[in-house]
Amino acid sequence: METQCFYLKDIQQKIREAAVKAGRNPDEIRIVAASKNRSIQSLRLLHDSGGILAFGENRVQEFLEKYDPALSWHFIGQLQTNKVKYLMGKIDLIHSVDRASLANEIDRLAKKNGIVQKILIEINSGEEESKGGLRLRDAYAFAESLKDYPNLLLKGVMAVAPMDIPKEKLASLFLSVRDFYERLKGEHSFIDTLSMGMSHDFETAIACGSNLVRIGRALFEGS
Ligand SMILES: *Cc1c(COP(=O)(O)O)cnc(C)c1O
Repeated sequence: METQCFYLKDIQQKIREAAVKAGRNPDEIRIVAASKNRSIQSLRLLHDSGGILAFGENRVQEFLEKYDPALSWHFIGQLQTNKVKYLMGKIDLIHSVDRASLANEIDRLAKKNGIVQKILIEINSGEEESKGGLRLRDAYAFAESLKDYPNLLLKGVMAVAPMDIPKEKLASLFLSVRDFYERLKGEHSFIDTLSMGMSHDFETAIACGSNLVRIGRALFEGS
């Protein structure tokens, strides 16, 4: 049924168009469904329609209520150190690693659980007070410090851009995050993920090199 596919086809089409316009291969770009406040029933329907890499949750409590091992999960929200324990073994990729105490705790618990946890470094590209993430100028030293943690695997970079900024400013923020990503990629062999772009800015993010978009509203509500 058409309604059960949500707006996935529309989004896939827009992703393809944005990629082609940027001279990129559309198949490089994957979708995380940002699934906060959506029911597990609607996540299952979306899962069954294919095309979603994972579901991205923001809050630990809500995630635990929905958790189903048959689906793939990412954690994309701000993460308190004392809640990391609830995620172990359940989350494929934590997008929001932005401080040493958090890296330290994820590494410690990953070791305890006998796993290697994949992570992204989160950049606060607009340097907004209210948001998590590192300033870009601090991010390289932070990435270097992650080499000390054997149970963390750094896969790349995630950024959230400010709302309501002009497109040129948005693109310049995304491009500076991409420069950082490329620098890491040149130095570490496992880096392959640049998580940028939400409902309102994924086309610009794709033009700027994103290969993982986190889409909620446009996917579930169509706007
Ligand atoms: C909610 C959320 C998204 C998706 O936002 P939409 O505007 O609904 O597409 C992406 N990333 C993060 C970190 C989020 O919290």
